[in-house]
This record gives sequence, C-alpha cells and structure tokens, in this order.
Amino acid sequence: TTPSIDLNQHDDQRHAFLDSIDTLIFDCDGVLWLDHHVIPGACEALAKFRSMGKKIKFVTNNSTMTRHQFLVKIQSFGIECSIDEIYGSAYGTALYLKSIQFNKKIFMIGEAGLENELRDAGYSPIKFNTDHTVSGISNAQNIEIERDIGAVIVGMDTSLTYSKCVYAHKAITQIPGCMFIATNTDHSYPVRDGTLPGAGSIVTMIQSSTSKAPIIVGKPETLLMDVIIKNEGLDRSRTLMVGDRLNTDILFGINSGTKTLLVLTGISNKQSIIEENIIPHFILNTIADLI
Ligand code: PLP
Ligand code: CA
Repeated sequence: TTPSIDLNQHDDQRHAFLDSIDTLIFDCDGVLWLDHHVIPGACEALAKFRSMGKKIKFVTNNSTMTRHQFLVKIQSFGIECSIDEIYGSAYGTALYLKSIQFNKKIFMIGEAGLENELRDAGYSPIKFNTDHTVSGISNAQNIEIERDIGAVIVGMDTSLTYSKCVYAHKAITQIPGCMFIATNTDHSYPVRDGTLPGAGSIVTMIQSSTSKAPIIVGKPETLLMDVIIKNEGLDRSRTLMVGDRLNTDILFGINSGTKTLLVLTGISNKQSIIEENIIPHFILNTIADLI
C-alpha cells in the first residue's frame, strides 16, 4: 500500500490537492470541534472552502441527535450549514428503511433523536413502557412482545434496561424474518475525561445473545456515503472524507472509494496508522492548515 502523504510537510502540494477535490465530507467531533470547543480556525477553513465553490457535507455516527439538532449545534460554533448537508446515523437508519419500502412495526433501543427521525419518515416505533422494567428471570420470561415486528433497531440508549434487551432478543429470535439493524457500532465515544460505552457495546450484546449479525448504518459501512453520492451526483475520486478516527471515518472513505484525510486533532495519531494498518491518503495536523 502507498504510504500517506503528509501535507504538513508539503506547503506547495496543498493548493493542488484542494483543486483535485469538489466535495469535502466532514466527521465533526475531533475535526471541527472537541466537545463544546470549536477547533481554532475550523470555522474560517469551512468558510474558505465554500467561497472556493466546494460542496460540504457532515457525517456523524452519533444516533442520539436528529439532523435538526446537529444543525443547531454546528451553527452554534459559527459554522455555516444547512439541513440537507447533514447525514447522521439516526437519519440514515430512517432513509435505509424507506429505501427498502419497510412497512412493518419497529422495536427500537435508542433515544429521542432516533425516535424523531423515524417518526419524520412516517414510522411509529413501539414504545416500551418503562413501567414494565422488571427484575427476576420469571418476570423477564413473561415479557410479551408484539408478534408483527419487522425490525429491531439498536442505537445509543442511556436508558438501556435488561427488559429492553429481552424485548429485542425475543423479537429477533422468535419472529421469522425480523431484521436487526444497528445505527452504528462505535464501542465507545469520547467525553471530557475519557470514553463511555457507545451504541456498539449495546449492539454487541444483542448480537451475542441472538447470534445474529446486524445490518449496520453508520461509518465505516458505506450506506451513508452511497446515499450522499447518489443524492448529490458526486464523483468519488473528487470527494474527500475528513476524519479523526481511522477505524470509522478513514475506513468509511476507503470502503467508499473516496480520498481520505486524517486530521490529528482527535482520536487517531500517526502511530495509530501503523498499529491499525488503516492508511489515509493524506494527513494534516488540523483542518485549519488546509487553507
Ligand atoms: N455515538 C455517540 C453517542 C457519540 O456521542 C459520538 C460522538 O460524540 C459518536 C457516536 C461518534 O460520532 P462521530 O461519528 O461524529 O465521531
Ligand atoms: Ca470524530
């Protein structure tokens, strides 16, 4: 494999590099901001790309927020953005269901952001009454599921309970043809002082108990990129995926056949490239350095 081109060391190549790109697709946390702080110069860099006529898209695996919530967050950093530029894994899940003309009942492990995206797409996920939260094996055994569920969707859920897992498990194992869909498989996600368990750790639990592999919507699977490329009529060879994490963002770009740029403001560093053997086409210290 060809090693990454370190754009930090090639001032002269950055201009030609930008000329070879029509569309920039951004992962957000770690690239444009960290937690609640914008990366210095990111705002100006995005404004510059727009003034050069580049198309901009935002892709996130975070399934807890709707596109509209992301819009508010992106704009709060002073970054210009419109709703049709945002692709989150909750919205992507709704798009996927529509693309297969799914019209059965849904059971969901997830938060309001996922539920609202599904509702916007015309679906009414079954609300698991939290009063039914039970303990004891005989009570878990007695949890009754609706028999006509066509899909179990698993995303990030900070109100996860054993009862919800029982419901999902029963639907997947007892209803013939019931699909198992994961919004994303990030096992953890970064917070101020470390990481917390992510949607992927919940997905792993259901995958483990049911012995069924899910259909995965988020990065590094290519579903979201395929939608973006189709909606926008993009040329993959002139599209750049910008991310801070090799095994989600960069692999997403590689799997999708776009160019990839690793910025070093988030999770992965140069050492991770060797350890994980996922090789971005380009490396740059920060997105601000591209202009
Ligand atoms: N899942 C959750 C719950 C998150 O909070 C985050 C990031 O904050 C992610 C996943 C990863 O999102 P991204 O793809 O934007 O890095
Ligand atoms: Ca990120």
